[in-house]
Amino acid sequence: PLVLGIETSCDETGIGIVRGTTLLVDAIASSVEEHARFGGVVPEVASRAHLEAMVPTIQRACETAGVALTDLDGIAVTSGPGLAGALMVGVASAKALALSLGLPLYGVNHLASHVAVDIVEHGPLPEPTMALLVSGGHSSLLLVPDVTSDVRPLGSTVDDAAGEAFDKVARVLGLPFPGGPHIDRAARDGQITIDFPRGLTAGRDMERHRFDFSFSGLKTAVTRWVTAEREAGRGIPVADVAASFQEAVTDVLTRKAIDACREHGADHLQIGGGVAANSRLRAMARERCDRAGIQLRVPRPGLCTDNGAMVAALGAQMMLKGREASRLDLPADSSMPVTLVRA
Ligand code: ATP
Ligand code: MG
Ligand code: FE
Repeated sequence: PLVLGIETSCDETGIGIVRGTTLLVDAIASSVEEHARFGGVVPEVASRAHLEAMVPTIQRACETAGVALTDLDGIAVTSGPGLAGALMVGVASAKALALSLGLPLYGVNHLASHVAVDIVEHGPLPEPTMALLVSGGHSSLLLVPDVTSDVRPLGSTVDDAAGEAFDKVARVLGLPFPGGPHIDRAARDGQITIDFPRGLTAGRDMERHRFDFSFSGLKTAVTRWVTAEREAGRGIPVADVAASFQEAVTDVLTRKAIDACREHGADHLQIGGGVAANSRLRAMARERCDRAGIQLRVPRPGLCTDNGAMVAALGAQMMLKGREASRLDLPADSSMPVTLVRA
C-alpha cells in the first residue's frame, strides 16, 4: 500500500510517503528557529506554523516522490501524544485528505511510530521487539509483540525524559535550544572528567525500579557543579561537562536496555526517538550490544527525531496487517498512552 503520513505533534511539520516497507520521501518543515529565543517550543506558534507549512510540505513530498494524491491507498496521522493545538492541525488535515480522496485514515501513536520507522530502515521488526524509546517527552523500555497492536511498557522515567535532561543541561551551560545536538557536538571536544550520578542503578532503588529511569537528580548535580565553579570564579569547561553528563545518561540507558534484553531473552535492541540521534549513545550501544551478543537496530539520525516517515511507516504496517482504520471523528489526544497504538 502507498501511504502518506502526517506528523505535527511538536514543532516539525513532517510529511512522509511509504510504499509497503519502502520510504519514498521524508519532507520536513520546522518552526524550531521561531521557538529558539523562548528557550522552548511555544504551542501557539507551533500550531500556526503547521497551518502555514501543511499544504506546501504535502505538495513538496508528492513532487519529490513522483506521487499524485490520487495514487494513495491510505492516510496516516499522529493522533497523539503531543501539543493539543499542533496535533489538531495534522488530524484535521488528514481527515480532509481521507474524506476528499475516499481513503482509510489511521490515527497512530507518535511513540509507536518512533519504533516503527526502523522498518523502512532495517526491515521487519522481530516479534517481540525490545525497544528503548528516548525522546523529548518520554524515556521508556518497551516490549513490543506487534507494533500495530500491542506495546507493553517495562519501565519509564520517574521524572524527566532523557531529551528533557539534555535540553535543561544545555541551558545551564549556555548552549542554544534544543540542547541535545549542541551537547552532542560540544562533548566531542571534551573529556569525561566528572563522575555524575547514575539514577536508579544501585541498591533498593535499582531493585524497585529495574527498568525505570531518573534524570532529574543528574540535572541537579550538573547545575550544582556548574554553580559551584562559577561562584569560585572559575571558568566552566563546557566540553568536559557536556561529555561527562552525556556519559552518565548513555551509561544508564544502555545498561538497563541490555539488562531488559537479557531478562526477556531478546537477541536484539531497537532504539528510537530524538535522543537516539546522539552519537555517544549510538557508539556505546553498539559496543555493549556487540559484547552482549545483541543485534542493535537504530535508524539514521534524521529518522530518530520527529518526521513524517515514521507515521507513514506505521500506517503502512496497519494496512499490511489488515488493521481496522480509525473513525473519521478521531480525536487529537494530547496525552495518548503509549499502550494505545491506534486511535
Ligand atoms: P516525544 O517524542 O516524547 O513526544 P519530541 O517529539 O518532542 O518528544 P523528539 O523529536 O523525538 O521529541 O526528540 C527531541 C529530543 O531529542 C530533544 O530533547 C532533543 O534535545 C533531543 N535530541 C535530538 N538530537 C539529539 C542528540 N544528537 N543528542 C541528544 N539529544 C538529542
Ligand atoms: Mg523538534
Ligand atoms: Fe518524538
